[in-house]
Amino acid sequence: MFDLAIKSKRIITPEGEKKGIVLIKDGVIIDVLESLDNTDERVIDLQNKVVMPGVIDPHVHINEPGRTDWEGFTTATKAALLGGVTTIVDMPLNSTPVTTTTKAFDAKLSAAHGKLHTNCGFWGGIIPGNENEIEPLVDKGVLGFKAFLTHSGIDEFPNVTAADLRKAMPIIAKYNLPLLVHSELTTNLKQQTTNDNRFYQHYLESRPRKWEDDAIALIIQLCEEYNCHVHIVHLSSSNSIQQIAKAKQKGLPLTVETGQHYLYFNAEEIKDGQTQFKCAPPIREKENNDKLWEALKEGIIDFVATDHSPSTPDLKELKSGDFTKAWGGIASLQFALSVLWTAASKRNFTLIDITRWLCENPAKLIGRQKSNGKIAKGYEADIIVLDDQNSFSVTEDIIQHKHKITPYLNEVLVGMVEQTYLSGEKVFDSGKFLHLNKGNIILR
Ligand SMILES: [Zn+2]
Repeated sequence: MFDLAIKSKRIITPEGEKKGIVLIKDGVIIDVLESLDNTDERVIDLQNKVVMPGVIDPHVHINEPGRTDWEGFTTATKAALLGGVTTIVDMPLNSTPVTTTTKAFDAKLSAAHGKLHTNCGFWGGIIPGNENEIEPLVDKGVLGFKAFLTHSGIDEFPNVTAADLRKAMPIIAKYNLPLLVHSELTTNLKQQTTNDNRFYQHYLESRPRKWEDDAIALIIQLCEEYNCHVHIVHLSSSNSIQQIAKAKQKGLPLTVETGQHYLYFNAEEIKDGQTQFKCAPPIREKENNDKLWEALKEGIIDFVATDHSPSTPDLKELKSGDFTKAWGGIASLQFALSVLWTAASKRNFTLIDITRWLCENPAKLIGRQKSNGKIAKGYEADIIVLDDQNSFSVTEDIIQHKHKITPYLNEVLVGMVEQTYLSGEKVFDSGKFLHLNKGNIILR
């Protein structure tokens, strides 16, 4: 009547942390019981180890095909498994081609074939003039769409204007899919206090909070006008929290994510020339980031996603330390859970909060809230086992990303993922990959 049973004194369920036994059959959780005959050999007793749903990271740049020297499906999905991430969703850039046409989507699927060690879905891209590709991409199975309001970093993915969004949003709204928006609107800068491209302060001032605040005001207006679900990616400006809270109170279909690095690091600690910290929008001051934590606690920010966006080492300009030239993107997929747990546990949050921010709420964005992101009857058995007390240092030899550059290098993180299960099959255990290529492509 079941294939496998996972027993623990600490299972993170929607009702809270409890002891019990998770019964799995045909890859699905068929029940969570309080007790069961312990002599059954199918029961794995994990004692005090935490059993929780696998992490869902809906913001990952895999960069394949075309920029596989930046990352790629194989390395990204292996790093994910090791870090307890059982589902990722790939961004429509920085691959070549960018995923803005069905032809490009087909190229993406064939590039992913045979290389998925964890589950993977795909976002389509909105660029000026591709509105005729939206419905065909929906038919192909994209989970939603992504657009930029400022330069994306690569020329093949130009940003949209409000006029472009007015064409795209009614179509996206018709299918009840989310539109993910990189929310920065470029306007004239105030006189900067420094002019050295190696100074972090110089970079910080070059992408002010106002850019985000203006973009978010525009996107909230369009969200209301078209009743289109808008998802603000990687919120960094705390000045926008109030307008977001207001829009949510009004009942607008608006959701928001922030990134681990905005919660873990503060601008004051970033040294000049440390371009591994460059991302857009930038990591801001502690006073700002404390407010992001508050908004996360209150549910104004829905969840946390990595925005894993690596590049080749030369493009990160570590030697020159020039923030203006360096690629803007942080590599962090493997450490998504440990980083957030390290920072959150210091602020007295619990693993129930972590599960809401990394599993339950991201599942809603990708339309999987009825099948993924919870340890509950009827849910997919994508499960991880976590030692929430054990700590480790991030050293180059443990990093599975294609490149070793990450601002988390040498950080001591709390929370070791010991096992990962995909659809009830143990694929990773104690540092070893047991089964590869067990990830599924997730189509809408
Ligand atoms: Zn991104």
